[in-house]
Amino acid sequence: MKNVHNFSAGPAALPRQALEKAQASFLNYDASQVSIMEMSHRSKTYENVHFQAISRLKSLMNLDEDTHVLFFQGGANLQFSMVPMNFLNNQSSYVLTGVWSEKAANEAKRFGTIDVQTQAKESGFSTIPSPDELSYNDENSYLHITSNNTIYGTQWKTFPHQKLPLVCDMSSDILSRDIDYNAFDLIYAGAQKNLGPAGVTIVVVKDSFLKNAHVDVSPMLSYQTFAKSQSMYNTPPVFSIYMLNLVLEWIESEGGVSVIEARNEKKASLLYDIIDRSEGFYRGHAEKEARSTMNVTFNLQNNDLEKMFLQEAEEAGLIGLPGHRLVGGIRASIYNAVPLESCEVLAAFMDSFKRKHS
Ligand code: PLP
Repeated sequence: MKNVHNFSAGPAALPRQALEKAQASFLNYDASQVSIMEMSHRSKTYENVHFQAISRLKSLMNLDEDTHVLFFQGGANLQFSMVPMNFLNNQSSYVLTGVWSEKAANEAKRFGTIDVQTQAKESGFSTIPSPDELSYNDENSYLHITSNNTIYGTQWKTFPHQKLPLVCDMSSDILSRDIDYNAFDLIYAGAQKNLGPAGVTIVVVKDSFLKNAHVDVSPMLSYQTFAKSQSMYNTPPVFSIYMLNLVLEWIESEGGVSVIEARNEKKASLLYDIIDRSEGFYRGHAEKEARSTMNVTFNLQNNDLEKMFLQEAEEAGLIGLPGHRLVGGIRASIYNAVPLESCEVLAAFMDSFKRKHS
């Protein structure tokens, strides 16, 4: 079989080690003679998996004691609604740095007034504002940001320090870098990029912020319900949480988040170096200081060349590279589970494609 290097934006590559472990116990989990998918979520066997995943997240993110780790279904899109539904009183601030943050802000408009920050749209979402450029009304319920803009390939490097509670969509860079996760009051992330398969969304919420949540919210849409029931209010997505736990185990076995971060930086710089040395053959979408270590986005001189690039890349076993339909071009998503070797192969391909076609 041809060696394939997977640069899919999500669902995305998973660590081989986690997939192999799942395969080995697929039909007979822990000598139970049944799959983890076939047993009660109230069984001790499943509970062990569930609580191990929570405690691994707490430890890898170095979370304060008073922080809840919750599991929801419905993807990050449901969080766009749940955040304002639970926390928006009159007005909240949203920093628009891409399509996902726009979607989050539009959803919040159903529940109150939105004070929108930044002009990043005017530059095709190629930048991230400096935290000092932003001004807030201290009366607002929270400030919402998107730490990594999957479609445009931009990423916040330093985060706003303000009086408002900070809410962050970390769907495409959670656990990719060793940041202070306790600086956020609520973090949410769909698992299907850095943490596992689709089907589970991780929410990390501080108890002090959770206390502000509205109490008249339907139980399935209430953070308080899920905190009280430890995400077992109804049947959780057991298989996705089981896979999440295996991916977290893999991060631990690699040496933790700081080791993963150093590798991610190396992977990204291999590709950005080729772009920067290409004398305009490859044109990076993001401004240099805002470049993402997770999604490397670029264009070639014209559509025909981009089509040829994608076709030749696929023939060489490099898959998942077409840019998002809104921006076109090329996007290499290089989440935690994408090996350094895949980036080396892509960098070599980019180099030889340029030599062949310029
Ligand atoms: N937020 C970000 C940053 C994303 O990249 C995505 C999906 O790619 C979403 C939200 C939407 O996630 P979901 O499909 O889990 O609702």
